[in-house]
Amino acid sequence: MTDYTQMWADLGLDLEAHDALLNMLGSVYGDIYVSQKNRPEGMGYFDFVMSEIHGLRIKELLDAKAEGRKVIGSFCVFVPEELTLAVDGIQVGLCAGADFATDESEKYLPRSTCALIKSFFGFKLGKVCPYIELSDMVVGETTCDGKKKAYEIFKELQPNLYVLELPQMKNPQDREILKTEYLRFKDELEKLTGITINVDRLRKGIEIVNNKREALHRLAALRAADPAPISGLDALLINQVAFYDDPPRFTEAVNKICDELEVRIKNGEGVAPKGTPRMLISGCPMAVPNWKLPAIIESSGGIIVGEESCVGERGERNLVDESGDTLDALMDTIVDRYFQIDCAVYTPNPDRLQHIESMAKDYNADGVIHYSLQFCQPYMIESYSIEQKLREENIPVMRLETDYSQEDTGQLKTRIETFVEMVKRSVVMS
Ligand code: SF4
Ligand code: SF4
Repeated sequence: MTDYTQMWADLGLDLEAHDALLNMLGSVYGDIYVSQKNRPEGMGYFDFVMSEIHGLRIKELLDAKAEGRKVIGSFCVFVPEELTLAVDGIQVGLCAGADFATDESEKYLPRSTCALIKSFFGFKLGKVCPYIELSDMVVGETTCDGKKKAYEIFKELQPNLYVLELPQMKNPQDREILKTEYLRFKDELEKLTGITINVDRLRKGIEIVNNKREALHRLAALRAADPAPISGLDALLINQVAFYDDPPRFTEAVNKICDELEVRIKNGEGVAPKGTPRMLISGCPMAVPNWKLPAIIESSGGIIVGEESCVGERGERNLVDESGDTLDALMDTIVDRYFQIDCAVYTPNPDRLQHIESMAKDYNADGVIHYSLQFCQPYMIESYSIEQKLREENIPVMRLETDYSQEDTGQLKTRIETFVEMVKRSVVMS
């Protein structure tokens, strides 16, 4: 195995804390992922990427930087990767999914801040994230109030932070705000790299991201089969890796696993018996290594068939129209695609309700588990309307609030087992 200690030290990581993080990750990964039965062979690629997420992938990024390419770190799916690729940049996700250096984070942030925000502060303060340390620009955005205000403080820790302003509503004037902001982001990228975006560069960027999204749509559609050909845990992992891996290589690996899943479906093979209660997860994004809830669901007799989440279908659905032949036309189609993202920070947000309902139907879900991080007001408050809407449609629904700690695992398991059992009975009776 390659020793990356010097590389991590050069990035300024706290080697002791970083070792502790990698050991924790390795053991959780072994317990949750490697222990699964009947995984598709194609998951070998994603296991490899995960095993090298702080190793080989970081080396690749540093090599690319040495050739003059820039790395853009992002916390949100509103940051258009198409523009980053158009300046030969590499975009990586930074959203942290584990508690780290929480005591340190709480010196800057109120305790009642969602785990995701505390986590990215903790990874920075604990000096354990190679991605943020090598980023040439880190992009924040004015989505929820928590993130918006936290970035004011985070800028002290990460001076190359750039904040995108996002609208809060979906009226024509809000679309104009998004377009203005994407043009400002384009200028910023051009300044950073010295590369001017032209039609060919932008179209190429759009094509690469569209290919990645199409592969993920293909994977999502295959999960409609009963028995499910892949576990929700593995499908989530693929969606998580989408934020880190080289896009064309990732696209090829997803299409390869889809070929394998198609054969499984044809042969009636799955990861759980036909008739296993099928769950849709909806809510806050699940960044690496936030696997707690899916692991509980799939060890409680359920199988997850879709994620209505930014690490999932909310983040990946819809393509950008590649046909425009002017820069302005292409920028417009990028704005059109991203303006459809139905994050709970929008008000009102009826599209999300409809999307959850249609996902439940498209993937033949028997029940919906709505997941909010504690203190995440947009998703916690929106879950009320979602529950009402799904009940009207006779779709069983359960709302959960949790964080990244393991303290509530037992309690969550009891509630989820009861829900899965209830769903199972209703399926048998219908
Ligand atoms: S939930 Fe909203 S703020 Fe968070 S990543 Fe998704 S779009 Fe961005
Ligand atoms: S989980 Fe909720 S509160 Fe936390 S950053 Fe995302 S939208 Fe904001």
